[in-house]
Amino acid sequence: MIFKCIKTVFVVMAAMVSLNSFSQDLIARQAPIDKKLRTVDSLALQKQIYEEQVQYPALSLYPTWNNEYVHAYGSIRIPEAYTINLRGFHMPTPSTRITSKFGPRWRRMHYGLDIKVNVGDTIVSAFDGKVRIVKYERLGYGNYIVIRHPNGLETVYGHLSKQLVKENQIVKAGEPIGLGGSTGRSTGSHLHFETRFLGIAINPAFLFNFPKQDIVADTYTFHRYGNHSVNDESNAQQYNQAQRYNSSNEHSLQYYKVKRGDTLSAIANKCGISLSTLCKMNRISKRASLHIGQILRCS
Ligand SMILES: [Zn+2]
Repeated sequence: MIFKCIKTVFVVMAAMVSLNSFSQDLIARQAPIDKKLRTVDSLALQKQIYEEQVQYPALSLYPTWNNEYVHAYGSIRIPEAYTINLRGFHMPTPSTRITSKFGPRWRRMHYGLDIKVNVGDTIVSAFDGKVRIVKYERLGYGNYIVIRHPNGLETVYGHLSKQLVKENQIVKAGEPIGLGGSTGRSTGSHLHFETRFLGIAINPAFLFNFPKQDIVADTYTFHRYGNHSVNDESNAQQYNQAQRYNSSNEHSLQYYKVKRGDTLSAIANKCGISLSTLCKMNRISKRASLHIGQILRCS
């Protein structure tokens, strides 16, 4: 009996010791667990940001996504300076021959570079991106394509004989998008290539060196009062709008992580935006149910 009693006490003590060391262990492990959770959280956030970037390239810069207008960004905010990352580029054509430069030409503004290509030559996307426009313009670009890229640029490819992509298609740098041609306002087959930032045409020769088949530098810094053509009415209009825009910090995206008890309207309030803006931004309905930890865009 005494033996049994001692045994029981021993077992209980052993249990207490092990429980004690177990709980200590738990406390000791708590910090790494929290750390791990945070890593998982930021991984989920990074994944979401990445997926959003693929679906809506340069979302923080462009207010809208439409398949209609090449450079219609009427009330857009233009940052004072913005560094465009050119790494991961692909020359749109292996051709090295520039047949017409960017700048005033025949009393009009030529917003791109003309590069000699033959009818049927493969034209590829200059960067990863999403096809915004695939259209035909009889008196202008002919068959043309506009692609928006995560680096903030939009590239335009004109006078194509054939378009090989569809609107809203995700493309990779170097992926064939069309064939060279001479459609639209064109004399002789060539590629009309434009690089635009928020609708403002940048001389592609500042970014791409066609004779050398390379980029000029790894990055290009756009300055809103910089060497961009302002001779044209639409560009001048955008230039004026740019001057009215004072804060470039507002471009960073803000995210909100859903907590227990949150409602969509409470989150909208916290973010200082309307409920409908919040829903539109996140492509959810006003009645969508939330789950704790869900990440919402709020700017
Ligand atoms: Zn041209």
